[in-house]
Amino acid sequence: MTKYVFVTGGVVSGLGKGITASSIALLLKSRGYKVFMQKFDPYFNVDPGTMNPIQHGEVFVTYDGCETDLDLGHYERFIDEELNYSSNITSGKIFKSVIEKERHGDYLGATVQMIPHVTNEIKNKVYEAGHSSGADIVITEVGGTVGDIESEVFIETLRQIQYEIGSSNSFFVHCTLVPFIMGSNELKTKPTQNSVKDLRNRGVRTDALVCRAPFETPNSIKEKLSLFCSIAKENVIDSIDVNNIYEIPINYYNQKLDEIILKQFDLPIKRANLTELKKLITTVNNLKKEIEIALVGKYVELHDAYISVVEALDHAGYNYNVKIKINWINSELLEAKKTNIKSVFKNSKGIVVPGGFGNRGIEGKIKAINYARENNIPFLGIGLGMQLAIVEFARNVCSLENANSTEFDSNTKEPVIDLMADQKSIVNIGTMRLGNYECTIKKDTLVYKIYKAKKILERHRNRYEFNNNYKEILEENGMVFSSINEKTNLVETIELPKLKYFIACQFHPEFKSRPLSPAPLFDSFVKTCALDKK
Ligand code: GLN
Repeated sequence: MTKYVFVTGGVVSGLGKGITASSIALLLKSRGYKVFMQKFDPYFNVDPGTMNPIQHGEVFVTYDGCETDLDLGHYERFIDEELNYSSNITSGKIFKSVIEKERHGDYLGATVQMIPHVTNEIKNKVYEAGHSSGADIVITEVGGTVGDIESEVFIETLRQIQYEIGSSNSFFVHCTLVPFIMGSNELKTKPTQNSVKDLRNRGVRTDALVCRAPFETPNSIKEKLSLFCSIAKENVIDSIDVNNIYEIPINYYNQKLDEIILKQFDLPIKRANLTELKKLITTVNNLKKEIEIALVGKYVELHDAYISVVEALDHAGYNYNVKIKINWINSELLEAKKTNIKSVFKNSKGIVVPGGFGNRGIEGKIKAINYARENNIPFLGIGLGMQLAIVEFARNVCSLENANSTEFDSNTKEPVIDLMADQKSIVNIGTMRLGNYECTIKKDTLVYKIYKAKKILERHRNRYEFNNNYKEILEENGMVFSSINEKTNLVETIELPKLKYFIACQFHPEFKSRPLSPAPLFDSFVKTCALDKK
């Protein structure tokens, strides 16, 4: 039977619950267990696809096309597994499904209630994750903080699961805060005690505590927490600040958190293989050089809005022993006439224009792309970044002055990017391309050299596409369309081979990047930037 680990949070948000959940998964995987991860998000949006990235950060996309919370990106990067639709459960999804079933008559005349109908719906998603993934252990993070009105129904479901499958099949980790009070020079356990009590009031027993504290908690604190919270002393785990997040699993490993979980599950404690992780930690802690890369976007005030892009740049940096410093550029500010664009990019070795939606700031992005192209500065465009690179080239090289995307100018006379441009064959016309699509790469192109493969799979999240009617004129002027999706004839990558590095893709390679295997396009881009002597 699949075993289930649940990670809840108490006292305050932002304690690193997601990293704790991923670290547990990583450790269990390193001991040879098949793991799967899941996140409960107690908000009413069905998915974060419609949420403003400035509020909620990036929308992460899984291979099967689910728009999810950015935490899933952390999970994938940490455990190096592809997650899917069953990995992100929101209140919106749960209630939508309950109401649909009600309308469909599935409840056979019953009064539809929180318990059991909503809780059953959540419970099914938990068990389904176990069945469909075939995992030995499923690790589920519960978003929010215990006591939040929004998450009550999820906590109630956990209570039922704990009762139903028992402690040999479920393990509850509660992440809390142990603050240090300056004046009295003391670590305080009361917030943790209260938070464990909050869980207990809701009928949920905690099996282990992960205590965020400024330094290792002394024995006396552990004893106190153990006594007041009815948790074995060994199960009180410290989570102190670290140099880089990859040290966190090692920190838990040293405190035997994974062994404690496996013991409770009565599963054999196989030897952990942490060689790769340790290698990664050494690399990250010893990066020799620093290079600056400009990231031009409209959500730059919240860095989390581009978290996977930043991570992918970092991963590539590890491969070339360089630390990446991001030069955050708000594309809207580039639009002003008086902006000295040269000074904005003065120290940047390369320019990235990542994905985006909507009108705001696009002319600034085009300006940045133009600067990169005319000054032969390495450039990587993603999604909207590719679309705008085409618009820029069409306008300034091919004299198509009105070139635009119909996303921004529905009356443009030169729609080089169009709503599912003349792709009548595509099944989901008008809707988005989400998740994995196959991409066929032309031989003798830069992209082919980089991927070393004819066919690749990359994840998408877009509605607009290159309009093939303009292919010829752009090609005549030197743009190479290096790959397409064969089924739909949609352009996937473009390049300007005469330049040092000018590549853009319709898909989002950042979603598949891993610390030890950077996404090929990021890898080659950072390599070019790192070796650039200028
Ligand atoms: N807004 C554009 C589209 O929908 C680009 C999206 C993206 O950057 N992935 O096609």
